Amino acid sequence: MIRLFTTILASLSLTLSGAAAASLSEKQIAPNVRMIRLAENVYSFTADNTTADIVDGNSTLILTDDGAVVVDAPSAHLVRLHIAEIKKLTNKPVRYLINTHWHSDHTIGDGAYKKAFPGVEIISDDYTAEIWNRRGPALFEKLVSGEEGEALLATFEKNAGSAVDDDGNPKSAYQSGRDARAARDLKRAFESAAKTGFAGVERTFSDAMTLTLGGTEIRLKKFTGHSRGDTVVFLPEEKILITGDLVIHPTPYGINSEFRSWPETLDALLAYDARIIVPGHGDMQYSKDYMLLQQRLIRALRDQANKAVAERRKLEEFQAEIDLEEFRIEFAGDDPDLNWAWKNYFLDPALPVVFNMAGGTR
Ligand SMILES: [Zn+2]
Repeated sequence: MIRLFTTILASLSLTLSGAAAASLSEKQIAPNVRMIRLAENVYSFTADNTTADIVDGNSTLILTDDGAVVVDAPSAHLVRLHIAEIKKLTNKPVRYLINTHWHSDHTIGDGAYKKAFPGVEIISDDYTAEIWNRRGPALFEKLVSGEEGEALLATFEKNAGSAVDDDGNPKSAYQSGRDARAARDLKRAFESAAKTGFAGVERTFSDAMTLTLGGTEIRLKKFTGHSRGDTVVFLPEEKILITGDLVIHPTPYGINSEFRSWPETLDALLAYDARIIVPGHGDMQYSKDYMLLQQRLIRALRDQANKAVAERRKLEEFQAEIDLEEFRIEFAGDDPDLNWAWKNYFLDPALPVVFNMAGGTR
C-alpha cells in the first residue's frame, strides 16, 4: 500500500573551510522543518522526511533587490511556513518559482505560491511543464480532493489502525509508527493542497536559461537522470548548486529514473564550481563526496544490469543476483529508516527499470 502511493507520486566540490561552515546558520521553524542559511542572500528549507512514507523536496530561496526567486514547492502546509519566513526577510514579492522536475513532492505547493504572490511566474524545462501541466490538474481533481484520494486516505488510516500487516502478521512497533505517521502526513498534505489548488508552469526553456534579477545571476540547465527533465540551478557568484532529485541525501530515489544518462549527468554536475550542493531532499552537502558515492552506485547498478542482459538473464534472476550490498552498507548501515528507503525508494523500483533500459526482457 505504501508503495502504491510512492508509485502514484512518481507516475504522476570543493570542501568548505571550517570557518565558512561555522558561519552558516540554521533555524528550526517547525518540528522536522529547518531553514538553513547558505549565503548572505540564499536560504534552503528542508523537511527532514526523506525516508518517510510521505516525502517533501527541499526548497531554496534566493533574495535579490528586485524580488525573490524560489526553487521547488513541496506540500502546501510547508510552503505556508516558508512564506511566513520569506516575509520576515523581505518585503518584496517572490517573482519566479522554478520547478526542478515534475514530481509532486516538488510541485504540489506551486498553487500556494500563486495564491500568496499572484504575480509569480512559474518556470521549468519543457518536459517538466508538459507533464505537470497535463497530470497536475488530474492529480488535484482525483487525488487531492477527489474520490481516489479519499479512498487512498481511508486505506492509509485503516492500515494505521491495524495491528497486523497485509499478510496478516503482527506488525512491529517500528512499522506501526511508520503507518501512523504516513496516514497523518498524507491527510495534512491533501488538506493543505486542496485549499490552495493547482498552479501550472508558465514559462519554459528547452536546454538552458539565465535569469538575472536584482543583479543576481541564476543559471538553469536541463539534464536527465532522476527523471527525463531535471533542471539544476546554479548561482555562480555564491557557488551554490541546486540539484533537484539528481542528488538525494541520505539515500537516492530510483523511481522511474533515467539510469542510462544519470552517471554522465552527475559528471556534469561534479564539474560545476560549487562550494555548496543543495540536494533535492535531505542535508546540504559541503563537499562533492556524496555525489561521487551516488554516481558509483548508479554506475554499478547500470553495469550489473548490462551484464545480466548480455548473459540473457530474466528479470527475476537479475533481481535475485544483483549485488549492491557494499553500497547498502555505506548508504543505510543498520538504520531501519535508511534501510526502508534504500529498499522502497531505490532498489525495488530501480531494478525493473534499469533492467528494461539495458534491453532486458521478462
Ligand atoms: Zn523526484
